[in-house]
Amino acid sequence: MSPASAKALRLDDVGAASKRHEVYGVTRIRVGPLALPFPGNFLFLKYIPPVKRWGPYRELGAAEWERILTALEGARAAMTVGVTAGWVETDGRIVPFPRKFPDAAAVIRRGVERGLLEVANHGYTHCVVDGGRFRPRLFSGNRSEHREFHDWLPAEVHREHIGRAQGILQDFLGSPVVAAGGLRYLSCLDPGRWGAVEGLTVVGDADVVAIHDRDLVLRGLGVLQGLLGGPRGDPFVTVREVGAGLEEAKQ
Ligand SMILES: [Zn+2]
Repeated sequence: MSPASAKALRLDDVGAASKRHEVYGVTRIRVGPLALPFPGNFLFLKYIPPVKRWGPYRELGAAEWERILTALEGARAAMTVGVTAGWVETDGRIVPFPRKFPDAAAVIRRGVERGLLEVANHGYTHCVVDGGRFRPRLFSGNRSEHREFHDWLPAEVHREHIGRAQGILQDFLGSPVVAAGGLRYLSCLDPGRWGAVEGLTVVGDADVVAIHDRDLVLRGLGVLQGLLGGPRGDPFVTVREVGAGLEEAKQ
């Protein structure tokens, strides 16, 4: 059992095609005390730094995952990886993560087997697929379409997506998977239905250091090494371990 002070480290958006399709630009530019309107979503502008805000960026590769495992092992730490189980292609087809990125997925599975990684359910699509709403637009950003669990979608859709993601990830790993990341979107779903999904409602932001794969792709693995070597008490643990600790403390 981990000490009560241990925090979880969570890396979100692995396998999420929002990194490809979520494109929007800055719409305000600061000039002294003023925030002036700027047409950052106009055509190509939103693809160019520093106007570009989120995507596109690439998926982490197998060699990077190997280095992540080495860094975790060296720090005697573990990390929860929020995997979006279905990659949404531009035409709307959804490809399971282990099939879309087999090399990275194989290293992740080895990390799980070695106790360095835990895979968490970070949704099925990470975006609204219907009507091609996830696709980049010419004259506006599409940030709001890159949340999966909108409250204007029927609860059945949420349940179906969580269920499909659980199916893909549990088949891939051969073991139960926790749901983490986007917790606030799931909290409306009657979490009791997901009996097998541990820690769904109990692990809050205060107990988790959350980063995105984007941080590592754009800024390098030094971001992770900085966190692992930073001035903290205990090494990072998984979301599941923090959840179990909190549940135990309640009893
Ligand atoms: Zn996400």
